Amino acid sequence: MRCRFCAAPGVNGLELCEPCAAELPWLDAQCRQCALPLTDTGEERLCGGCLRHPPPFRHVRAPFRYCHPIDALLKALKYGGDLAAARCLGDLLADYLHRRGVAVPDAVIPVPLHPQRLRQRGFNQALELARRLDAPLAPQIVRRSRATAAQTGLDRSERRSNTRGAFQVTTRHVPAHVAVIDDVLTTGATVTELTKTLRRAGAERVEIWVMARTPQLDR
Ligand SMILES: [Zn+2]
Ligand SMILES: [Zn+2]
Repeated sequence: MRCRFCAAPGVNGLELCEPCAAELPWLDAQCRQCALPLTDTGEERLCGGCLRHPPPFRHVRAPFRYCHPIDALLKALKYGGDLAAARCLGDLLADYLHRRGVAVPDAVIPVPLHPQRLRQRGFNQALELARRLDAPLAPQIVRRSRATAAQTGLDRSERRSNTRGAFQVTTRHVPAHVAVIDDVLTTGATVTELTKTLRRAGAERVEIWVMARTPQLDR
Protein backbone atom coordinates (compact mmCIF):
# COMPACT_ATOMS: atom_id res chain seq x y z
CA MET A 1 0.00 0.00 0.00
CA ARG A 2 1.51 3.32 -1.13
CA CYS A 3 0.62 6.80 0.10
CA ARG A 4 -1.77 8.42 -2.32
CA PHE A 5 -0.15 11.82 -1.95
CA CYS A 6 3.60 11.11 -1.96
CA ALA A 7 3.99 7.40 -2.86
CA ALA A 8 5.88 6.60 0.36
CA PRO A 9 4.86 3.32 2.06
CA GLY A 10 1.45 3.62 3.72
CA VAL A 11 0.80 2.85 7.39
CA ASN A 12 -1.98 0.80 9.05
CA GLY A 13 -3.05 -0.63 5.72
CA LEU A 14 -4.02 2.84 4.47
CA GLU A 15 -2.99 4.56 1.24
CA LEU A 16 -1.46 7.21 3.45
CA CYS A 17 1.91 7.77 5.13
CA GLU A 18 2.34 9.31 8.58
CA PRO A 19 3.68 12.74 7.48
CA CYS A 20 0.86 13.16 4.94
CA ALA A 21 -1.74 11.99 7.50
CA ALA A 22 -0.56 14.69 9.89
CA GLU A 23 -1.07 17.30 7.15
CA LEU A 24 -4.71 16.37 6.47
CA PRO A 25 -7.40 18.87 7.55
CA TRP A 26 -8.59 16.91 10.59
CA LEU A 27 -11.72 18.38 12.14
CA ASP A 28 -10.69 18.94 15.76
CA ALA A 29 -12.92 21.35 17.68
CA GLN A 30 -16.49 20.62 16.67
CA CYS A 31 -20.08 20.66 17.91
CA ARG A 32 -20.71 17.31 19.56
CA GLN A 33 -24.02 16.91 17.77
CA CYS A 34 -23.68 18.36 14.25
CA ALA A 35 -19.84 18.47 13.99
CA LEU A 36 -19.88 22.15 13.07
CA PRO A 37 -16.26 23.33 13.18
CA LEU A 38 -15.82 25.50 16.27
CA THR A 39 -12.96 27.84 17.03
CA ASP A 40 -12.16 26.86 20.61
CA THR A 41 -10.77 23.46 21.49
CA GLY A 42 -12.47 23.26 24.90
CA GLU A 43 -14.50 20.29 26.07
CA GLU A 44 -17.23 18.89 23.83
CA ARG A 45 -19.99 21.40 23.41
CA LEU A 46 -23.04 22.20 21.32
CA CYS A 47 -23.13 24.96 18.71
CA GLY A 48 -25.78 27.69 18.90
CA GLY A 49 -27.78 26.09 16.09
CA CYS A 50 -28.08 22.76 17.90
CA LEU A 51 -29.05 24.52 21.14
CA ARG A 52 -31.83 26.48 19.38
CA HIS A 53 -33.09 23.78 17.01
CA PRO A 54 -31.84 20.32 18.01
CA PRO A 55 -31.39 18.26 14.84
CA PRO A 56 -33.20 14.89 14.61
CA PHE A 57 -29.94 12.92 14.31
CA ARG A 58 -27.87 11.97 17.36
CA HIS A 59 -24.38 12.76 16.10
CA VAL A 60 -22.47 13.67 13.00
CA ARG A 61 -19.14 11.87 12.65
CA ALA A 62 -16.83 13.72 10.26
CA PRO A 63 -13.07 13.18 10.25
CA PHE A 64 -12.24 16.18 8.09
CA ARG A 65 -12.98 19.78 7.27
CA TYR A 66 -13.95 20.15 3.62
CA CYS A 67 -10.70 21.55 2.26
CA HIS A 68 -7.49 20.55 0.50
CA PRO A 69 -6.69 17.73 -0.26
CA ILE A 70 -9.87 16.01 0.97
CA ASP A 71 -12.11 18.20 -1.23
CA ALA A 72 -10.04 17.23 -4.30
CA LEU A 73 -10.32 13.52 -3.47
CA LEU A 74 -14.08 13.81 -3.00
CA LYS A 75 -14.46 15.65 -6.32
CA ALA A 76 -12.27 13.06 -8.07
CA LEU A 77 -14.64 10.41 -6.76
CA LYS A 78 -17.94 12.15 -7.38
CA TYR A 79 -17.28 13.84 -10.72
CA GLY A 80 -14.27 11.93 -12.03
CA GLY A 81 -15.43 8.41 -11.19
CA ASP A 82 -12.17 7.78 -9.30
CA LEU A 83 -13.19 4.71 -7.31
CA ALA A 84 -9.66 4.34 -5.91
CA ALA A 85 -10.36 7.64 -4.11
CA ALA A 86 -13.44 6.00 -2.55
CA ARG A 87 -11.27 3.17 -1.23
CA CYS A 88 -8.74 5.58 0.25
CA LEU A 89 -11.42 7.83 1.80
CA GLY A 90 -13.60 4.95 2.99
CA ASP A 91 -10.61 3.33 4.70
CA LEU A 92 -9.80 6.64 6.41
CA LEU A 93 -13.38 6.88 7.66
CA ALA A 94 -13.34 3.28 8.89
CA ASP A 95 -10.07 3.90 10.71
CA TYR A 96 -11.42 7.12 12.24
CA LEU A 97 -14.63 5.46 13.50
CA HIS A 98 -12.64 2.57 14.91
CA ARG A 99 -10.17 4.82 16.74
CA ARG A 100 -13.05 6.82 18.22
CA GLY A 101 -14.72 3.65 19.50
CA VAL A 102 -17.92 4.47 17.59
CA ALA A 103 -20.46 1.66 18.10
CA VAL A 104 -21.32 -0.41 15.02
CA PRO A 105 -24.95 0.33 14.06
CA ASP A 106 -27.54 -2.23 13.01
CA ALA A 107 -27.42 -0.86 9.47
CA VAL A 108 -25.40 1.60 7.41
CA ILE A 109 -27.56 3.42 4.87
CA PRO A 110 -25.90 5.41 2.07
CA VAL A 111 -27.88 8.53 1.08
CA PRO A 112 -29.61 7.25 -2.05
CA LEU A 113 -29.34 8.98 -5.40
CA HIS A 114 -32.37 9.43 -7.60
CA PRO A 115 -32.35 6.60 -10.21
CA GLN A 116 -31.84 9.12 -13.01
CA ARG A 117 -28.77 10.61 -11.27
CA LEU A 118 -27.47 7.12 -10.58
CA ARG A 119 -27.73 6.26 -14.27
CA GLN A 120 -25.83 9.40 -15.24
CA ARG A 121 -23.04 8.90 -12.70
CA GLY A 122 -22.91 5.12 -12.81
CA PHE A 123 -22.36 4.73 -9.08
CA ASN A 124 -23.42 6.20 -5.75
CA GLN A 125 -20.41 7.81 -4.06
CA ALA A 126 -21.94 7.32 -0.59
CA LEU A 127 -22.36 3.59 -1.26
CA GLU A 128 -18.76 3.31 -2.50
CA LEU A 129 -17.53 4.88 0.77
CA ALA A 130 -19.83 2.67 2.85
CA ARG A 131 -18.46 -0.51 1.23
CA ARG A 132 -15.13 0.07 3.02
CA LEU A 133 -16.70 0.05 6.49
CA ASP A 134 -16.88 -3.00 8.67
CA ALA A 135 -20.62 -2.63 9.36
CA PRO A 136 -23.83 -4.14 7.91
CA LEU A 137 -24.72 -2.29 4.73
CA ALA A 138 -28.41 -1.83 3.91
CA PRO A 139 -28.77 0.46 0.88
CA GLN A 140 -32.16 -1.02 0.01
CA ILE A 141 -33.95 0.35 3.09
CA VAL A 142 -34.62 3.73 1.58
CA ARG A 143 -34.94 5.19 -1.89
CA ARG A 144 -35.13 8.67 -3.30
CA SER A 145 -38.71 9.06 -4.43
CA ARG A 146 -38.21 12.28 -6.32
CA ALA A 147 -35.35 14.21 -7.82
CA THR A 148 -34.25 17.30 -5.91
CA ALA A 149 -32.67 20.41 -7.37
CA ALA A 150 -29.10 21.23 -6.35
CA GLN A 151 -29.14 22.95 -2.95
CA THR A 152 -26.65 25.60 -4.06
CA GLY A 153 -28.13 29.08 -4.10
CA LEU A 154 -31.29 28.11 -2.21
CA ASP A 155 -32.15 29.76 1.08
CA ARG A 156 -33.04 27.79 4.17
CA SER A 157 -36.78 27.44 3.56
CA GLU A 158 -36.22 26.66 -0.13
CA ARG A 159 -33.81 23.90 0.84
CA ARG A 160 -36.37 22.47 3.21
CA SER A 161 -39.14 22.35 0.66
CA ASN A 162 -36.66 21.06 -1.90
CA THR A 163 -35.91 17.99 0.21
CA ARG A 164 -39.29 17.44 1.87
CA GLY A 165 -40.72 14.04 0.95
CA ALA A 166 -37.62 13.20 -1.10
CA PHE A 167 -37.13 9.79 0.53
CA GLN A 168 -39.24 6.72 0.95
CA VAL A 169 -38.63 3.75 3.22
CA THR A 170 -39.07 0.51 1.30
CA THR A 171 -39.19 -2.01 4.14
CA ARG A 172 -41.58 -2.70 7.00
CA HIS A 173 -38.76 -3.05 9.48
CA VAL A 174 -36.20 -0.29 9.99
CA PRO A 175 -33.47 -1.28 12.50
CA ALA A 176 -33.28 0.65 15.78
CA HIS A 177 -29.78 2.07 15.32
CA VAL A 178 -28.76 3.25 11.87
CA ALA A 179 -25.92 5.30 10.44
CA VAL A 180 -26.59 7.35 7.33
CA ILE A 181 -23.50 7.87 5.22
CA ASP A 182 -22.80 10.64 2.73
CA ASP A 183 -19.71 12.21 1.19
CA VAL A 184 -19.97 15.79 2.48
CA LEU A 185 -22.22 17.52 4.97
CA THR A 186 -23.03 21.06 3.91
CA THR A 187 -26.39 22.54 4.88
CA GLY A 188 -27.67 19.34 6.45
CA ALA A 189 -31.04 19.66 4.70
CA THR A 190 -30.73 16.27 2.98
CA VAL A 191 -29.63 14.24 6.01
CA THR A 192 -32.15 16.03 8.24
CA GLU A 193 -34.99 15.02 5.91
CA LEU A 194 -33.65 11.46 5.59
CA THR A 195 -33.30 11.18 9.38
CA LYS A 196 -36.89 12.34 9.88
CA THR A 197 -38.08 9.78 7.34
CA LEU A 198 -36.17 6.95 9.06
CA ARG A 199 -37.38 7.96 12.50
CA ARG A 200 -41.00 8.09 11.38
CA ALA A 201 -40.46 4.53 10.09
CA GLY A 202 -39.20 3.33 13.47
CA ALA A 203 -35.47 4.06 13.71
CA GLU A 204 -34.70 5.12 17.29
CA ARG A 205 -31.19 6.38 16.85
CA VAL A 206 -29.78 7.86 13.66
CA GLU A 207 -26.19 9.00 13.24
CA ILE A 208 -24.68 10.73 10.25
CA TRP A 209 -21.27 9.64 8.98
CA VAL A 210 -19.57 11.83 6.38
CA MET A 211 -16.03 12.31 5.14
CA ALA A 212 -16.02 16.06 5.50
CA ARG A 213 -17.91 18.94 7.03
CA THR A 214 -18.28 22.45 5.66
CA PRO A 215 -18.64 25.33 8.12
CA GLN A 216 -22.36 26.04 7.65
CA LEU A 217 -25.46 24.13 8.71
CA ASP A 218 -29.06 25.21 8.97
CA ARG A 219 -32.27 23.47 9.76
ZN1 LIG B 1 2.58 10.55 2.01
ZN1 LIG C 1 -24.24 21.77 16.26
